[in-house]
Amino acid sequence: MNILVINCGSSSLKYQLIDMKTEDSLATGLVERIGIEGSILTQKANGEKYVVESPMKDHTDAIKLVLDALVNDVHGVIKSMDEIQAVGHRVVHGGEKYAKSVLITDQVMKDLEDCAKLAPLHNPPNIIGINACKALMPNTPMVVVFDTAFHQTMPEKAYLYAIPYELYEEKHIRKYGFHGTSHRYVSLKAAEALGKDIKDLKIITCHLGNGASVAAVKNGESVDTSMGFTPLEGLVMGTRTGNIDAAVITYLIKEAGYTAEQVDEILNKKSGILGVSGVSSDFRDVEDAAWNRNEHRSILALDMFAYRVKQYIGSYAAIMGGVDVIVFTAGVGENSPEMRESILEGLDFLGVQFDASANKVRGKLTEITKPESKVKAFLIPTNEELMIAKDTLAFL
Ligand code: ADP
Repeated sequence: MNILVINCGSSSLKYQLIDMKTEDSLATGLVERIGIEGSILTQKANGEKYVVESPMKDHTDAIKLVLDALVNDVHGVIKSMDEIQAVGHRVVHGGEKYAKSVLITDQVMKDLEDCAKLAPLHNPPNIIGINACKALMPNTPMVVVFDTAFHQTMPEKAYLYAIPYELYEEKHIRKYGFHGTSHRYVSLKAAEALGKDIKDLKIITCHLGNGASVAAVKNGESVDTSMGFTPLEGLVMGTRTGNIDAAVITYLIKEAGYTAEQVDEILNKKSGILGVSGVSSDFRDVEDAAWNRNEHRSILALDMFAYRVKQYIGSYAAIMGGVDVIVFTAGVGENSPEMRESILEGLDFLGVQFDASANKVRGKLTEITKPESKVKAFLIPTNEELMIAKDTLAFL
């Protein structure tokens, strides 16, 4: 049984075809710059790279090219689309209605549309991706795996905001949390790496990418996470502000003349690493400006990022009554030894004995604390696609 996993972003699309008998990835691919100049598909299969540079005006074009690449005579891995038994779609926000993965129906699609306003940067491209797949593969079962689902175990005191309770009851305003598939995957992997039962562990998982979040995973369940009602809350991110005094928002609207839409745009798209550095939302560019050009605002942006992650680690250790493992994953977490070091620096008091030489590594499962460290830290590459495929298979 082969499952195709689709993870559709606003201008990019990651995919993976997984043979569920072996859990081996038959092909992985990335489509970048969808809808902008220089669209490109890169597929890796059988140890070789297949690159297609072709204009893609939208996600339907992109998915057509993905299917073509998978069945390509020379570079493909299957003979026809019939060899794809199911598709698992990553969807960011399932609201309160979806605490589990679900088979796609018309009602589910309607619910996803309803949830779109809760995750304006993410749900719309997810929906476009599903519709494009449905049009091209009308008879293939499709499952949605929500980023919010893993965090449904949070206790009320963690997921409620201290606003009038009626706003929760009537408007469903609460913390949902995101990146759940990734937090779940890396926490399971951390337990496996330690040879321990996840039910006996207190784990803090740091998913540090362009979007970033931290989760407190106690006895295998998410008990708190940094993202909230939308993915805007919590850490400083590529373009998102993360935590901010809510009064800044009303001040900008009432006193400084901004519209709600402009404030939304500022907080979601112009803030974070980009807003502070003034250089880029890409950590590589900001690290370059900080280290090679000594630009103050870039140094500050990276410092602010690490500071906020450190704050969450302290806070989550406190709410769980300690921590056994700290995990770093996603683009920055897997690839920036310097960022991992800045975050863990000074956490000796918690029992973290950082191993600077082990930390000089990118993209592979590595213990980055000394063997005698009471609290372990790991770099664990995330694999949301495999987690989604497993959920899809279980559902079928
Ligand atoms: P998302 O899935 O949220 O788009 P990713 O997990 O793919 O994000 O992470 C993207 C981020 O990872 C980018 O900001 C990029 O700069 C950063 N990144 C990738 N490689 C490196 C590296 N070698 N050093 C520092 N940051 C990196």
